[in-house]
Amino acid sequence: MDKFFLITMLFWTNLSFAQVQTLRVDFYHTGDVNQEIFSLDQVVIEPLAWPGSLAQSLDTLNRGKYRFIVKDKATNKVLFTRSFSSIYGEWETTGEAKKIKRTFHESLRFPQPENRVKITIEKRDHNHQFQVVWQTEIDPNHYLNHRESAMYQQQVIAIEQNGSPEEKVDILIMGDGYTVAELGKFQKTAKAMTEALFATSPFKERRKDFNIWAIAPISSKSGVSRPSTSTYRDSPLGVTYDAFGSERYVLTSDNRNFRRIASSAPYDFVEILVNNDTYGGGGIFGLFSTAAANSDWANYVFIHEFGHHFAGLADEYYTSSVAYSTTKNIIEPYEPNVTALIAGKTKWQEKLDKSTPLPTSWPKQQYEQHSYQYQKIRAQLRKDNKPESEMDKLFHDNQNIVEAMFSKAENNSVIGAFEGANYAAKGYYRSEMNCIMFTRTTEFCQVCQHAIIDMINLYSSH
Ligand SMILES: [Zn+2]
Repeated sequence: MDKFFLITMLFWTNLSFAQVQTLRVDFYHTGDVNQEIFSLDQVVIEPLAWPGSLAQSLDTLNRGKYRFIVKDKATNKVLFTRSFSSIYGEWETTGEAKKIKRTFHESLRFPQPENRVKITIEKRDHNHQFQVVWQTEIDPNHYLNHRESAMYQQQVIAIEQNGSPEEKVDILIMGDGYTVAELGKFQKTAKAMTEALFATSPFKERRKDFNIWAIAPISSKSGVSRPSTSTYRDSPLGVTYDAFGSERYVLTSDNRNFRRIASSAPYDFVEILVNNDTYGGGGIFGLFSTAAANSDWANYVFIHEFGHHFAGLADEYYTSSVAYSTTKNIIEPYEPNVTALIAGKTKWQEKLDKSTPLPTSWPKQQYEQHSYQYQKIRAQLRKDNKPESEMDKLFHDNQNIVEAMFSKAENNSVIGAFEGANYAAKGYYRSEMNCIMFTRTTEFCQVCQHAIIDMINLYSSH
């Protein structure tokens, strides 16, 4: 405990630079496969100053399915833009969206403007071009705007502080399913996860550009819900396994509560640790990522899911089942680490050696033969509710086989276009044979690393 210290309001009020508050627009996102409706919930003035760089208000990377634009109403000047993805955006691709309408609570956060603003949300169309789907106006000075208090601030701890939130990427590690007696365990795990992240390039080289904060609102019972095994918990953040019916997919849709707790700390990005042993996690660009903290694979899941949440990276794997579906007509994906190789072009042309053939050969058949067999065993272990140690062993054995297979292969560690990525065996390509976004290995591929560096640069002064 002595390694950690409680932060106080003094930390923020003593800062010498001009501070701007954080404004949050909470809204409901409703619809089905045919219809999409947005409605305003509340405008919230968060208790803490804007934790991002005011010099970098425009998102030049645009990696999400959605994007929002804040414009001054009188002058039409663009004040802030940010792209993002959402749980709704995944849900609308599931079978349920063909049958019923559902509502998800979402938030937009930006530096508090001085005057009335127009807010536009855009969504990618079938050609991945942004089209307007919602417009509304907000008066940042309206007397009915909700003033949120930092009611959890006393529970926020600084794991690592390298400067003011405005100049650094601020990651908030939240814990869900931790009882009072388990808070020490949460802090220890948050610290270990921080070290795992900073042992991985390019986070390793850019460590000084980050602050890491942590908070675990107290749970009355240990662990979070896992409905597929009849485990139900009413944990503070509402995180649960079995999101969209996928046993290893861990999310919360209780955004209102999540935001209310998170706003007690400065944050640009959030990783939620759940106090569970069962392998699982999830990551949504610009929203949050999750990881089962007590799994043997916690470090890997933490970093892989953070890749989705932080840098908008696509999954490079394709042999395991997922809850959501991807489009059937193949066009160039908007994620930076996968390509459709249309007209023989990747989106990482400048990183290619001219002598590398595209597509680039790899032991695809051998990998698939092994992998589909392994996925069958994995599904059966879950179905039979076998101990987690059996699953851990299967994952370790599988990873050893794959690493050995790749180490002998031609084009291992070459940058090219390797077919099989983005949940599809054909039509999508990844840039290297292996990557954290493909298997449970320890390194990001070069293309993923550069995509992460671009994001660090957007959120830090350098
Ligand atoms: Zn990669």
